[in-house]
Amino acid sequence: MRYISTRGSAPALDFEGATLAGLASDGGLYVPESWPSFSRDEIAAMRGLSYVETAVAVMRPFVADNLDEATLIRLCTAAYGRFSHDAVTPLVQLDSQQWLMELFHGPTLAFKDVALQLLGQLFETFLAKRDAHLTIIGATSGDTGSAAIDGVAGRAKIDIFMLHPHGRVSDVQRRQMTTVLAPNVYNIAIDGSFDDAQAIVKALFNDRDFNGRFTLSAVNSINWARLMAQIVYYFYTAVRLGAPDRAIAYSVPTGNFGDVFAGYVAAKMGLPVAKLIVATNVNDILHRALSTGDYSCGTVTPTATPSMDIQVSSNFERLLFDLAGRDGAAIAAMMAGFESTRAMTIPADMRAGAQALFSSARVDADGMADAMRWAADRAGQIIDPHTAIGLAAARTSGLSSDIPVVTLATAHPAKFGDAVERATGVRPSLPARVGNLFDREERYDRLPATKDAVAAYVAERATPAA
Ligand SMILES: *Cc1c(COP(=O)(O)O)cnc(C)c1O
Repeated sequence: MRYISTRGSAPALDFEGATLAGLASDGGLYVPESWPSFSRDEIAAMRGLSYVETAVAVMRPFVADNLDEATLIRLCTAAYGRFSHDAVTPLVQLDSQQWLMELFHGPTLAFKDVALQLLGQLFETFLAKRDAHLTIIGATSGDTGSAAIDGVAGRAKIDIFMLHPHGRVSDVQRRQMTTVLAPNVYNIAIDGSFDDAQAIVKALFNDRDFNGRFTLSAVNSINWARLMAQIVYYFYTAVRLGAPDRAIAYSVPTGNFGDVFAGYVAAKMGLPVAKLIVATNVNDILHRALSTGDYSCGTVTPTATPSMDIQVSSNFERLLFDLAGRDGAAIAAMMAGFESTRAMTIPADMRAGAQALFSSARVDADGMADAMRWAADRAGQIIDPHTAIGLAAARTSGLSSDIPVVTLATAHPAKFGDAVERATGVRPSLPARVGNLFDREERYDRLPATKDAVAAYVAERATPAA
């Protein structure tokens, strides 16, 4: 399988190259040259497979040029062995139609572990083969940072520098990063906002001199390998609910469009998906884009669902690429226009293409709190605010009652305990595996929000490119 850029001019790479590169050199995102697909019989044969066995079956066509089956099994076993539930992503039934898919049983309590535990394994394997060293620089508003750090902590050929806005992530989120004392982990608290931190990271990647001295990589969801790992749980849960003999709908709390795009890929690969519901909070650029074609940036409104407080959705470009008939030049032109005006209109034919599979909903703070209370009162389930946005959208989707609707439970409720307690009166407790988070030593450095300060800090500590 070769990987091509959504903007048509970067060189095609194999899986290993696309994983290590992250972003394509023309500013686009890597996607497989074609979607592999499974027959009904092949999907039916996934019934009864374990999570790791399903992962190997689903990901094999994407990685076969670079990883033999024994290696893939070993990496998946190591990545998913760190989850606290044997089913890795178990289903919970809420009523006769509504289900939850729990994606928070990994080490840092959010769905990002599913992808980042595997990405850590992939990085280590490819770097050992090349005898190369990688410097990861990222900015986080919470969940990505801790999941990325946990995925690479202690790995010899990787250094990770993670910027977070000082005083603006929750105590749990900060401690999940800063109590990791492995020598290759550098936490940096920036005196500024998340946007400042992200702007610094972008500036470092765009600085030719700096970028040339280190082999830089990104761990945000523009990395194809992350999305690939997320396709697995759509297959794993769908066959448990009757696929391929019936179609399943999914409601996905959405920010950067990574998780729900993985559902789209599952459908492209032959999984019968009745609907993908894109659930947004009041930062609703995706709901506007899908329902009216208006893809324009506003300002970000902070909410109780910080992982969905976005201005733009980077992975949306991957869907646009398919909807435009995989015309890289057309996408490059569209995105250039968008990057200069911060707005674009999705043409009607592309929107119609999207609506065949996607629907969308915008859920405000009241809708979110109602969904948390409904889950608690009617099903005895305490859910996190992000999951509640998804469940609210699922319950108002109007899908026929014979279609199971699975909401992706993207975070453990204890990660956002204050918001959960406000809505339900119940204070969720942290699972035992992270229980002593508040007793552990923290380590981080505080820097001013300037590119130069961060560049100097990284240059002093990172391993130069060979
Ligand atoms: C990252 C995240 C999301 C959004 O996922 P995308 O792939 O960016 O759409 C939703 N909920 C939680 C808890 C997250 O951490």
